[in-house]
Amino acid sequence: MSNKGKNVAVVGAGLCGSLLALRLKQLGYKPVLFEKRPDMRSADISAGRSINLALSNRGLKALDLVGLSEKARTITLPMKGRLLHDREGNLRMSPYSGRPNDYINSISRGDLNSILYDAAEAEGIPIHFNMSCISSDPDSGELKFQDHSKNIQNFKADAVFGADGAGSVIRQAAMKKSSLLRFNFSQQYLTHGYKELSIPASENHDFRIASDALHIWPRKTFMMIGLPNLDKTFTITLFLPYTGEDGFDNIRTDADITRYFQKWFPDAMPHMPKLLEEYRTNPTSSLGTIRCYPWKTGAKTLLIGDAAHAIVPFYGQGMNCAFEDVVVLDKVMKNFEFGDWGNIFEAFQIIRKKDADAIADLALDNFIEMRDKVDDPVFAEKRKLEMKLENKYQDYYSKYSLVTFKEDLPYSAALKLGRAQDELLLQKIKEKGSADQIDELKILQELMDLRTKLEISI
Ligand SMILES: Cc1cc2nc3c(=O)[nH]c(=O)nc-3n(C[C@H](O)[C@H](O)[C@H](O)COP(=O)(O)OP(=O)(O)OC[C@H]3O[C@@H](n4cnc5c(N)ncnc54)[C@H](O)[C@@H]3O)c2cc1C
Repeated sequence: MSNKGKNVAVVGAGLCGSLLALRLKQLGYKPVLFEKRPDMRSADISAGRSINLALSNRGLKALDLVGLSEKARTITLPMKGRLLHDREGNLRMSPYSGRPNDYINSISRGDLNSILYDAAEAEGIPIHFNMSCISSDPDSGELKFQDHSKNIQNFKADAVFGADGAGSVIRQAAMKKSSLLRFNFSQQYLTHGYKELSIPASENHDFRIASDALHIWPRKTFMMIGLPNLDKTFTITLFLPYTGEDGFDNIRTDADITRYFQKWFPDAMPHMPKLLEEYRTNPTSSLGTIRCYPWKTGAKTLLIGDAAHAIVPFYGQGMNCAFEDVVVLDKVMKNFEFGDWGNIFEAFQIIRKKDADAIADLALDNFIEMRDKVDDPVFAEKRKLEMKLENKYQDYYSKYSLVTFKEDLPYSAALKLGRAQDELLLQKIKEKGSADQIDELKILQELMDLRTKLEISI
């Protein structure tokens, strides 16, 4: 094999960068990983930063590509649906799918990243921790890093991947030559931010609330969610507007926090003994969508994962999408010669951009759905019908299932078909009044006709 294009720098050893480096090594390249933070296997650096995540089929497919899906599965907890908590503490389970074997998985960010680090090191990939990239030349592949002692180190690669997340330094370098590149960039913040809290294990070391679901406390304009962890705790995330009566800006003192939780989340509060301390100490972080293009920011540089397309977390797809980038890239690479990076990057961005845009839009839609629509009677009837159809008919998939469980269907097709299906089902429910009044075979035929009309095969 020729050495042309063999030396690859992956900037950012988060979830996407680590997986990417592993795949590149398996394909015969010589990747080197650079990470600004310390090694999370020996330092605790996760506090307040999405401690656990929902891993679903697209992410598992990517882990499968590098031979790690089984290992990852050993550290997951299945979540079969949304367990909805109303203000009186009544619970209602809303399954994710009508198929009993479709579920999503709660996984620790740190544990998953550690599995990737272990595998990367076992393959002989160097991981340079505490190395912050401070500048890059997208055309020459020259990179400058600063270590913890402020020493500067230079590195030159045949290809550079900017896998350095939403605040990407590699992307900033592209913005500096934005007119030359005609580099488009947009960042849209939500009016809401988030804060992580927790529910500890019970005194007899068990889960305090059901562990096989993603808990949601939907409250129309805001919400709280909870995902289980292997140590029987829950990571709780509170999504609130910054301003207004129920906004972070107005919930500051212990009395405010207590009053607020007693009013909106009375069933959760007794399970949160560290609520006041965590609320005060854990950061309030912002949420937003980043879109940019081109992702090939120079002859030798490609943005990937959140650096190219950061999305809001409400479809549980950011990591899954970043992992799927690697699957798509892998496929693209098969069409080109080894190390033909210019053409590989060009083809990748053309194929992938529409799908990244689609999941960004779907994730924004789902924020409204999770905090507001899940409690709406028409929406609840629609879900009931979807569950019935999925349970009985192999060929039907709801929008949620298209996105989450149909890993071979591009996000853009899932969006197009999913939205059209939603529109049809909601219209029928409104006409007939309830899911039970709808002729199953007739609606199934209409759904299949819709698929044919949109020219989508799944
Ligand atoms: C609250 C919240 C909940 C979420 N929940 C889910 C979920 O349930 N399911 C899901 O699929 N996704 C979820 N996501 C999204 C997911 O976290 C991201 O999409 C995913 O982490 C993207 O991976 P990445 O590797 O591209 O970026 P990151 O994970 O951000 O990794 C980037 C890495 O680059 C490093 N880095 C940054 N700058 C530099 C530099 N200058 N030099 C060297 N290294 C650098 C960082 O330290 C980091 O390790 C959630 C996100 C949030 C905020």
